[in-house]
Amino acid sequence: SKRVLIVGGVAGGMSAAARARRLSESAEIIVFERGPDVSYANCGLPYFLGGEIADRKKLLVQTPERLKAVFNIEVRTRSEVTAIHRGRREIDVRDLVSGHATTERYDALILSTGAAPIVPRVPGAARAGHFALRTLEDMDRIDAWVRDRGAKTAVVVGGGFIGLEVAEQFHARGLRVAVVERNPQVLKPFDPEMAAHLHLELRGRGVALHLNNGLKEFDDPRADESASASVVVLADGTRLPADVVVTGLGVRPESTLAVAAGLDLGRTGGIKVDEHLRTSDPNIYAVGDAIEVTHAVTGAPALIPLGGPANRQGRTAADNIFGTASACPGALGTAIVRVFGLTAAVTGANEAQLRAAGIAFEAVHLHPNSHAGYYPGARALALKILFAPDSGKLLGAQAVGPDGVDKRVDVLATALRAGLTVDDVADLELCYAPPFGSAKDPVNLAGMVAQNVRAGRVRTIQWDEVAALDRSHVLVLDVRDAPERAGGAIPDSVHIPLGELRARLSELPRDREIVAHCASGQRSYTACRVLMQHGFRCRNLAGSFKTWKAAR
Ligand code: FAD
Repeated sequence: SKRVLIVGGVAGGMSAAARARRLSESAEIIVFERGPDVSYANCGLPYFLGGEIADRKKLLVQTPERLKAVFNIEVRTRSEVTAIHRGRREIDVRDLVSGHATTERYDALILSTGAAPIVPRVPGAARAGHFALRTLEDMDRIDAWVRDRGAKTAVVVGGGFIGLEVAEQFHARGLRVAVVERNPQVLKPFDPEMAAHLHLELRGRGVALHLNNGLKEFDDPRADESASASVVVLADGTRLPADVVVTGLGVRPESTLAVAAGLDLGRTGGIKVDEHLRTSDPNIYAVGDAIEVTHAVTGAPALIPLGGPANRQGRTAADNIFGTASACPGALGTAIVRVFGLTAAVTGANEAQLRAAGIAFEAVHLHPNSHAGYYPGARALALKILFAPDSGKLLGAQAVGPDGVDKRVDVLATALRAGLTVDDVADLELCYAPPFGSAKDPVNLAGMVAQNVRAGRVRTIQWDEVAALDRSHVLVLDVRDAPERAGGAIPDSVHIPLGELRARLSELPRDREIVAHCASGQRSYTACRVLMQHGFRCRNLAGSFKTWKAAR
């Protein structure tokens, strides 16, 4: 019978172990985990800090005892694998409690060693009260520090997924929170105008958001800052005293063991694997945050440290070890996060990734309702899709809004995986009744808007092109109703509500191009169709006032 050893007992490792057992009752399966816990929900850690998950036990999805009883899997916690001897197919293991070292033989080895939080290399980084959040132990330390110290102020360094979740949860716990981000926007997987909606939400909730202003160093509190544990000093000299500091600067693949064993790494620093998740040694597989994957849209090597891929890859590695040739498709990086009242989700490539890969794209923005507007509770969401102008193939999608974001991006992620075009997306038959959606679902609408662009029925202009327009050659036309315009307008725009447009065409110049906008782009599309059929040159502002205003 096969002896399968697994290094790392959380997402990818335990998924591999459970699948291996289901495929083979006779295999010997041993999982080595250097921490005290296995199979815990690291994705749930932030929600314990804010009290949303009140019972810590709920985060422990499995225990070694139960894994033994149900799956006959041997789990050795506090056991660190210190070396791999590939020639003789053995690993060295150190028991971290007794210090005792042993050697174990394997037929197949799976590395699911995860990733390590990036630690800022700046003066003062090792002060008490500074934390990263990766493990249950980290969570316990943060929780105890905040409670014991009676912390009132928190600084989160890094506006990534985990940073924003921690910021939200600290706020829920009653702390005054600042978020520090070196880039001009939070959440790099999103394009800037989509992330801008989150900036408004964070600031609206009272979070101090410092963008374009990275961490310079940590300093001792001065006399007037003496109550705080640390002072976060930003690039521009701003001082942010804090009772607790959490850094969320991203992670790097935990590849120490693999490197020492001479396994190949990819250029991103992740362990190199083939589509069957085999490393450069055919008896060693690697999965999860530790590996480099290929981006399905751009073909570029990528690190996608997410729970879904880790779990599926664990399963795939076990399949391949037990004779079912199973391959992992390229990665889409589908991800979602809640930031207070908004949800943001993304799949596929964003504009920056497409540009870096030299892939031509068109973008459309829309702000459809989450369900039928006449049914109570409908809320607008910002939806963006990116597609190839020639083939119409979907390349990426992003959505931000209070409701209905997850299902739209999940449908679009499925469409991407299937290689669908915007025509296919326009035709998807999705479920509809007023409490759930609209007869033309936002996903259908995105496909239809893209179809109109591809067919040349309208040309679009993006939010970031407005400022540079030469107004001697271009007129910006606002076709919203008067009360909407009273709430703000693009400077130097002309106002003719859509309902009056046909009667007032004579007021518009024929020697200048017209850039039409409304609130979301829907009415201005109609305006463009009217104008174009009357011989005017016209472009529609994608996402219109809502996108332009959020991104400004
Ligand atoms: P891990 O789950 O990290 O497991 C690796 C394990 O290997 C670790 O326990 C480590 O101790 C052990 N190990 C490493 N080296 C050795 C060694 N030499 N010997 C023995 N043991 C070793 N993803 C999402 O998709 N959605 C989310 O909402 C989400 N939220 C998250 C929130 C937080 C706070 C964190 C930290 C992560 C979140 N993730 C989320 C990411 C997700 O948890 C990871 O992608 C996933 O856990 C990766 O699985 P893995 O098996 O590769 O690594």
